[in-house]
Amino acid sequence: MDRMISGIAASPGFAVGEAHLLHRGEILVEERKLEPDEVEAEVRRFESSLEKAREEIEALQEKITNTMGEEGARIFGVHQMILHDPMVVEATKEGIRQSLRNAGAVFDEIMGGMRDTLSEAADEYLAQRSLDIEDVRRRVLMQLAPGGRLLLRDLRRPVVVVAEELTPSETAHLDPEKVLAFVTEAGGRTSHAAIMARSLGVPAVAGVSRITERVRTGSLIAVDGTSGQVAVNPDEYMIKFFESQKAIFAELERELLKLKNLPAVTLDGREVELSANIEFPEGVESALNYGARGIGLLRTEYLYLGCEELPSEDKQYSDYLKMVEQVAPDSVIIRTFDLGGDKVGVVPATPLERNPFLGWRAIRVSLAHPKVFMNQLRAILRTSAHGPVKLIFPMISGLEELMQAKEILNQAKESLSREGMPFDEDLPVGIMMEIPAACAMADILAAEADFLSIGTNDLIQYSLAVDRGNAQVAYLYQELHPAILRQVKMVIDAGHRHGKWVGMCGEMSANPLATMILIGMGLDELSMSPELLPEIKKVIRSCTHAEAKACADDALNQNTVEGVTGVARRYTEGKLGELVTDVGEGAAVYPPLLQTTEEEKEDA
Ligand code: PEP
Ligand code: MG
Repeated sequence: MDRMISGIAASPGFAVGEAHLLHRGEILVEERKLEPDEVEAEVRRFESSLEKAREEIEALQEKITNTMGEEGARIFGVHQMILHDPMVVEATKEGIRQSLRNAGAVFDEIMGGMRDTLSEAADEYLAQRSLDIEDVRRRVLMQLAPGGRLLLRDLRRPVVVVAEELTPSETAHLDPEKVLAFVTEAGGRTSHAAIMARSLGVPAVAGVSRITERVRTGSLIAVDGTSGQVAVNPDEYMIKFFESQKAIFAELERELLKLKNLPAVTLDGREVELSANIEFPEGVESALNYGARGIGLLRTEYLYLGCEELPSEDKQYSDYLKMVEQVAPDSVIIRTFDLGGDKVGVVPATPLERNPFLGWRAIRVSLAHPKVFMNQLRAILRTSAHGPVKLIFPMISGLEELMQAKEILNQAKESLSREGMPFDEDLPVGIMMEIPAACAMADILAAEADFLSIGTNDLIQYSLAVDRGNAQVAYLYQELHPAILRQVKMVIDAGHRHGKWVGMCGEMSANPLATMILIGMGLDELSMSPELLPEIKKVIRSCTHAEAKACADDALNQNTVEGVTGVARRYTEGKLGELVTDVGEGAAVYPPLLQTTEEEKEDA
């Protein structure tokens, strides 16, 4: 057996099966000189290929809307835009006429150039757009020269799809019956392929270095999307292990769902609020299905990322209202736009930056665009008249930003009052604690906010200097780092000293190894992707608060990640049944299994 390879856990679940390798650049584009009298016919052939590609995308949009809702289909709206873009369409026609070359060669040159420029962008969102360009390139070239790369819909038997990267439409062609799992070299938890894999329930591991060189089509491959591990050519022992994990995972999911309507309460009666993070309206249903008590984070910017411009106050109001009404009597924490970083696109135009995560992002963008900010605040305030709403500001780094944001909120309130529009005068205002500077002055910020919610996704990247989307340094992205625990503790204590509620909406809240530590430290709420809620509820319902407190104290006394992990494992053991509790641990997880002795193998 080859060794285990660590990647990024992009979609939970286990699979063992035959690999199917999708190579990049399989479409061979021939280059041909045209006679002058062939030129116009070639332009028409190009136009008709575009038309067929548009029709294919339309059909795909319809299929995806029916199966996954509007959001999944929105990605293909971008593809349609590319197919209508004069920089693509007119430039290709012009190129055919000027260079007297065939459509495939000219089109390939233009699209390939765009793709390569975008893929080199430091900004993850822009880099992801290169996948859309590549997708459209392939689609049109397939029309111009049929017989290119095998699409996922053509798969004959269930396989594990292995690729450098997957484009949105390749993923969308997926028949969950035929794809056991995805393994990709590129991408992360936020890539389109990962989002789609999660919503379809297909396990996926991203960021697996050189995986396309390590497997061949037909090789056996075992995938653990729960902790982000892949085993190439697993031996019999490993296959058995994965198969058993798969069965346990499925059983556990069924078992866990039985907890849906039970409270997240410790054995000694301490209740913890469990709520869901959502990005799209469909998320509400998922949150309710998995037993969420409200929405702990509505990432509003996702609602409008595919739009050409940010919507009006009225449109935002009606979007928020629908969700709030569905979730009532539980509350929805609405976050103001966190644009910038890896989420650029809609107005206000975000400039290209060398370090977008350290740049013009979130509250900084909102404060620089008071009109956009005001629109959103008014929409949120108006929503608050109809159900329990809380407001949260992202990326607060100091008191000035918070005070400026609150000042604009006051202006929004005054304007609504002047117009006689109702809103909740006492709308709770919270801060995302996701910048180390904010954590360092948590006591000061806590005095000015109604609640705090710890955003570990960013807090970890900023504290440990590890880009959250960079597969190369993913092994350093450690939730159980003592520096993170200390900051979390500091924020909880500061909040509580001021009588404020403290929650967590970063991914760490969905790490079962962290649960006892977090509730032991006194966290009031944990908010996460809906499908992960039952697992965390299970841990909470399996321990006493006293035990969790001892676990937290022990963990805070550790000097190393290894030390904290050891403590977390010891206390969490047995709380989730037999499933290995590996989330967020990266490479630290599997070595003990690989070191299994011959005797143990025989016993197994
Ligand atoms: C976070 O940073 O932890 C968070 C929840 O916000 P986002 O993932 O949207 O940056
Ligand atoms: Mg964040």
